[in-house]
Amino acid sequence: MNIELINTGTELMLGRVLNTHQQWLCRQLADLGYHVRRQVAVSDTGTAIQQAVREALREADLIIVTGGLGPTSDDRTRDLIAELAGKPLRSDPAALDHLNRFYAERKRTMPERVRVQALVPEGATVLLNEHGTAPGLALELPGGGEAAPRPAWLVMLPGPPRELRPMFSVQVVPWLRRRFPLTDAFACRTLRTTGIPESIVEERIDGPLRRIVEAGLELGYCARPGEVDVRLAARGSRAESLVIEAEQITRGLLGDAIYGLDDEALEAAVIRLLVERQTTVTVAESCTGGLLGHRLTNVPGASAVFVGGWITYSNEAKEKCLGVRSETLAAFGAVSEPTAREMAEGARVRMGTDYALAVTGIAGPSGGSEAKPVGTVFIALAWEGGTRVMRNLNAFDRETFKHATAQQGLELLRRAILGLAG
Ligand code: ATP
Ligand code: MG
Repeated sequence: MNIELINTGTELMLGRVLNTHQQWLCRQLADLGYHVRRQVAVSDTGTAIQQAVREALREADLIIVTGGLGPTSDDRTRDLIAELAGKPLRSDPAALDHLNRFYAERKRTMPERVRVQALVPEGATVLLNEHGTAPGLALELPGGGEAAPRPAWLVMLPGPPRELRPMFSVQVVPWLRRRFPLTDAFACRTLRTTGIPESIVEERIDGPLRRIVEAGLELGYCARPGEVDVRLAARGSRAESLVIEAEQITRGLLGDAIYGLDDEALEAAVIRLLVERQTTVTVAESCTGGLLGHRLTNVPGASAVFVGGWITYSNEAKEKCLGVRSETLAAFGAVSEPTAREMAEGARVRMGTDYALAVTGIAGPSGGSEAKPVGTVFIALAWEGGTRVMRNLNAFDRETFKHATAQQGLELLRRAILGLAG
């Protein structure tokens, strides 16, 4: 089956918005066993959308178009597709009812302009938008060209990711599975690892998995700062057993470096472990500027285990909020093992949590020295088992530095919770 993805929006052409739909949708489809054959991004001016759809119709069985379903003048997907399909637009009662309810629930009057979102090309299926106003649409169109005519499906999804993602997962995926069942069984599992560089991950598992790869396993790696995903996939009658066997071998070789499966983020794994053990954590952050707190609070249910924390950027804040001693700061500096230790221990005592994670480092680009170059970071964890301080060198740009540091902090915490951080 051929799938083509068309992302619309002039902001994509201008580089003002990162095309995350491309990555997200391709990733979802790939993990379900569907391949996207081609993906294009087009501006929403002129008839670029129509041209892209026309081209896609020649080969694709399913075309997914994103963006441009809203009420503003640059939202032209609905009109252009209706025109291309030669279908009149009709106001859909269910879509209109949804719009009315959306505004009524928020006690707002519906702007007249918004009504256009209830317009639907004749014959299209409406995908109600649980997180916004613009409904998605699914429409069958003649595809394949004159030489080999066959039906193709066009699915239109709203631009905002928080609307598109649930609509795709809840409404499109079940439909896709019914309408385009896979000819072969498909199995896929992503093992998420942290703390081991990509080359070492590969070195450890590549050889032992070769036999299964030869039997049909697709083995893939994806490295990001501080983590490596190992993707195991297979098709056919033995798909499930190949993936299960490969997972067992990989787990045996990578062990505790595997923190989670599929979409689970490291912070989610940490929260899950804390909840399971009914233990709590606090953070004292300097160079990450709140990123640890941000990542932990991104996880639903974090409030059960994450009590709160501090961003202590200056020496004064470290003294006042955490009780770091001025002598320590004077003798060793803010970026030092003793300061990180006192930050973690001070935080733990003051917040009364089981774990306290502290970070202090030099994000750069200036402020480094020979003894402590830019990128130097001390990560401390205080818990019942004592205080452990780690010194790392994350010589990256500021944002990557913060991300890598937070990653290492969360990993230290994860290992301590599992009793592996002695
Ligand atoms: P709205 O009702 O919000 O106008 P829409 O369906 O008309 O929704 P667009 O106007 O195309 O969608 O996009 C709305 C917003 O969604 C954009 O400003 C952008 O922030 C986000 N967005 C659109 N396309 C993408 C994309 N490919 N990747 C990531 N974000 C996107
Ligand atoms: Mg719009």
